[in-house]
Amino acid sequence: MFEKERATAVAAVLRAASICEQVRAGFSAHDAHEKDDRSPVTIADFAAQAIIIDMIESMYPKDEIVGEEDADLLKGTDGTMLGEAVLDVLVTAIPGIQMDRLVHLLERGDGRGGKGKRFWTLDPIDGTKGFIRGDQYAIALALIEDGEVVLGVLGCPALPVNGLNEDGQVRGVLLDAAQGDTQVLMRSIADPQDVQSVRARSAVELSEAVFCESVEKAHTAQSRSSRIAEDLGVQASPVQIDSQCKYAVVARGDADVYLRLPAKKGYTEKIWDHAAGAFLVEHAGGQVTDMDGKALDFSQGRELTQNRGIVATGGGLQGLVLEAVIRTKPSA
Ligand code: AMP
Ligand code: MG
Repeated sequence: MFEKERATAVAAVLRAASICEQVRAGFSAHDAHEKDDRSPVTIADFAAQAIIIDMIESMYPKDEIVGEEDADLLKGTDGTMLGEAVLDVLVTAIPGIQMDRLVHLLERGDGRGGKGKRFWTLDPIDGTKGFIRGDQYAIALALIEDGEVVLGVLGCPALPVNGLNEDGQVRGVLLDAAQGDTQVLMRSIADPQDVQSVRARSAVELSEAVFCESVEKAHTAQSRSSRIAEDLGVQASPVQIDSQCKYAVVARGDADVYLRLPAKKGYTEKIWDHAAGAFLVEHAGGQVTDMDGKALDFSQGRELTQNRGIVATGGGLQGLVLEAVIRTKPSA
């Protein structure tokens, strides 16, 4: 099922990954900007959203797209210079592209999502802070029908191909899965014909479990997570990784638990930060819920308004981890 959509999504994410790595290779402070909510955005975020939407739109012109970025910054002061820089990056991928087309492509990501329909959700660069720091980031694309994710593609351009040990390893993988096919595929971005099937680990002892969490203290309550790991008798320190690469490493069995616990009141998780990654973990034999054990509800619009935090596990650990979350109170 969804073979055509899957091929389109994989090709689009590979294209975007190559553009992002090209931008990062020559990255300068001028390439980063700040959005109204003070979060960072780069020319690569815009270019990746534009190329992916261009490819989806050409195959599925009527499909709604819920993307993270919009064209507001391109319309503000300095917008023209920023737009020109994005066009420079895109010109080989979309020959002849001009500003009006770029604005159109970015604004095509303004879908509202919701119940009873089909839409795509896209984070062109998830973990922009990691991208700027030179660490991990992901390009996340999912297709949702009637509130259920049916296709997930995650490009992880800087993730080592084999395991978390970075030394001298080839980097860059893409993971994808679709409803109706039991396998999660992982391919090397450098050689996309090199495809293998991956699974989450099974029957893991808690003492041996590997936890992962966000690098950013503002995005997850790290101290509570460490109390939970201690409560469970976990021995290793958590691995800190930016972006949905955390879901990727659980899906392929490098880590067993991804905890994302609210760090501050009033933040609601965005659907594009979880749809692709959560789907991959579930497809790889793992489990994903919020911190109350509720399924993630992707039918509520652009945000996961019915959920709090995220608990994703392989190794059959979901129940034990959720119980420990309940036992462990938030820090004052
Ligand atoms: P990560 O790399 O796991 O820290 O995730 C990056 C994502 O965190 C970004 O794409 C943001 O959408 C999201 N984010 C921003 N602020 C918060 C917050 N206060 N709590 C949780 N996630 C956040
Ligand atoms: Mg994101």
